Amino acid sequence: MNPRDPQKPFGPVVVGDLEITVDKDVCIGASACIAMAAHTYALDNDGKAVILDSADQDSEEAIIDSARACPVQAIKIKRVSTGEEIV
Ligand code: SF4
Repeated sequence: MNPRDPQKPFGPVVVGDLEITVDKDVCIGASACIAMAAHTYALDNDGKAVILDSADQDSEEAIIDSARACPVQAIKIKRVSTGEEIV
């Protein structure tokens, strides 16, 4: 597993025009995000979703859907170019 930013495995990190952040204290390891965007997340040893270096391989739509799919709203997505909080 290669975090996109080893210093900040849960973000915020930028992927394309999206800034992704996982609140690891909220994440329950349900893996819904991985089902939607398998290149973007993987669970670490504590069962928390880490943001991967390969996130560019998932579409913007898939990444946004992954945040919407999280049952505990642990993923926040912001559009970098506009500052809009999408999820
Ligand atoms: S869907 Fe939410 S709770 Fe489940 S692993 Fe992803 S971030 Fe964590």
